[in-house]
Amino acid sequence: MLLLALGPFALSQVLPPPRIGDQPGFTRVVLDLPKEATYQLEPLGAALKVTLPGQKVNPGVHFVSQPELAGYVLEQFEDRATLILLTPQGATPRSGFRSMVLPALEGEGQRLVLDLSGAFVDTSPLSPLPGFRFVKANGRRFAVVLDPGHGGPDPGAMGPVAEKVVNLEVALRVRRLLEEAGVAVTLTREDDNTFSPDKRTDLSQRVALAEGKDLFVSIHANAIAPPRADGWCGLEVYYFGPGNARPFFPAPAPLQPPPLAIAPSPLETLPTPPDLAQPSPEDVNPIPPQSLPTPTPLMNSLRRMELSRTLATRVMAHLLGATAAFNRGVRSADFYVIRYNSVPAILVEMGYLSHPLEGQNLRQPNYLDRLAYGIARGVLEYLENDHPVE
Ligand SMILES: [Zn+2]
Repeated sequence: MLLLALGPFALSQVLPPPRIGDQPGFTRVVLDLPKEATYQLEPLGAALKVTLPGQKVNPGVHFVSQPELAGYVLEQFEDRATLILLTPQGATPRSGFRSMVLPALEGEGQRLVLDLSGAFVDTSPLSPLPGFRFVKANGRRFAVVLDPGHGGPDPGAMGPVAEKVVNLEVALRVRRLLEEAGVAVTLTREDDNTFSPDKRTDLSQRVALAEGKDLFVSIHANAIAPPRADGWCGLEVYYFGPGNARPFFPAPAPLQPPPLAIAPSPLETLPTPPDLAQPSPEDVNPIPPQSLPTPTPLMNSLRRMELSRTLATRVMAHLLGATAAFNRGVRSADFYVIRYNSVPAILVEMGYLSHPLEGQNLRQPNYLDRLAYGIARGVLEYLENDHPVE
């Protein structure tokens, strides 16, 4: 085309393909550009778009298959070239990448360096901390149990900092925020201690604290062994749901069944299998509120599961809003403290201590503030909108 041939960049060379390097915790993409070249970056969620006005490329689709970069697409337009980097861990205005321009190693040009990782998150100070509205229901305070995972002889996951330390740091922050909003908070531990060196005993005592409260939030950080440690990062929020048949720990001893008032006839002795899909008699014929134990009745499994999932979804949404971290999803799992609980219960995994960058994020007070703020806001939003109030 004549216009293009006479344009200011008509003589520009075809750019060399991007150079891609695997670094601990991130993928580095380097574009070698002429000295005068300009560029625009556009995070698109699942991709990072680089627009290069006046540049020429060899169009094509390339697969890379690294945790942070699935591949890239080079496209040629009349007045510009584009490079689309496919980023499985996301690219947003606040997260997923960092960029810098360096002089060329040789000659006159410049290097556009793009580092990609879901562990590039928002670690800026959260200040001033946005205030919370006072949350109260029917004249009573909501009561929440926060469970900083591990403690004492059990450090939890290991990274640049022990998981038990991170969990407690965040739990103490969440407590402060919830108390400001008028919520009564019980911690399963306030220091580096546990109820018992025996894991099962410890966990069952933690769960027992939820009896009669409104909800339970267990706070953890994750880790995974090499070679995946370099690529796994992000947030997970778990609730106990169907499909989780295998417990990590044996079930607590079953409660003694209440004595039967009338001896069953032989035909009635076969127990009816519980069906999660069926409402319990309590749902069909609600017990009058005054006869319910205060403040919250023991919920049936299905109701508790639904509320736990709602709570998990609310908490995840606000965690993502506060941190811009990579979303590994709201998932169901079989962790003891969420399975054997009497109230809506979730377990938050705040990131991977085994990840070279995310492990460092979890040491930063600003980032812990943001995690705590996300959890607290999610809990408050759930209490205001979803929690049954008698
Ligand atoms: Zn843990």
